[in-house]
Amino acid sequence: MEHTDVIIIGAGPAGLFAGFYVGMRGLSFRFLDPLPEPGGQLSALYPEKYIYDVAGFPKVYAKDLVKGLVEQVAPFHPIYSLGERAETLEKEGDLFKVTTSQGNTYTAKAVIIAAGVGAFEPRRLGARGRGSWRVRAFTTP
Ligand SMILES: Cc1cc2nc3c(=O)[nH]c(=O)nc-3n(C[C@H](O)[C@H](O)[C@H](O)COP(=O)(O)OP(=O)(O)OC[C@H]3O[C@@H](n4cnc5c(N)ncnc54)[C@H](O)[C@@H]3O)c2cc1C
Repeated sequence: MEHTDVIIIGAGPAGLFAGFYVGMRGLSFRFLDPLPEPGGQLSALYPEKYIYDVAGFPKVYAKDLVKGLVEQVAPFHPIYSLGERAETLEKEGDLFKVTTSQGNTYTAKAVIIAAGVGAFEPRRLGARGRGSWRVRAFTTP
């Protein structure tokens, strides 16, 4: 079992910025997210779209905002467990225990749930075939 002070479920913008504050307080932390990269909806759905409502940025590409968030949290050495969805959360004594879709178990003193609209996963075509076509679309359960 791997332990950090905090586990952050979801590496979208809310989770990434929560990580910044966790790091500022000198705590170790791990991000869990089923997506292969951080950024949540911004990376999965609209990386090339401008966002106009972030304080201090008249306009910013979603992908650039994610890049900034990742850079901002990097000095605190977060552990990224990407491609892993949190499946169960239990309290055992003073610790929380999270198990994931990869069969891993992680423990922490605190868990922050920043899961947004839910876990992203590829939406598969309901067609048979050799898998040469891929759909860049994501769905939440
Ligand atoms: C097309 C589009 C355009 C938008 N444009 C704007 C805009 O211009 N301005 C604006 O302010 N907002 C905009 N939004 C909304 C904005 O994207 C969301 O408010 C924002 O992404 C929420 O951030 P979040 O971190 O809370 O959640 P999310 O971005 O949803 O991230 C949550 C993350 O948690 C992960 N997660 C969920 N469940 C689990 C689990 N069980 N285990 C591990 N990980 C999990 C998900 O995979 C995801 O990566 C837009 C949304 C869309 C769809």
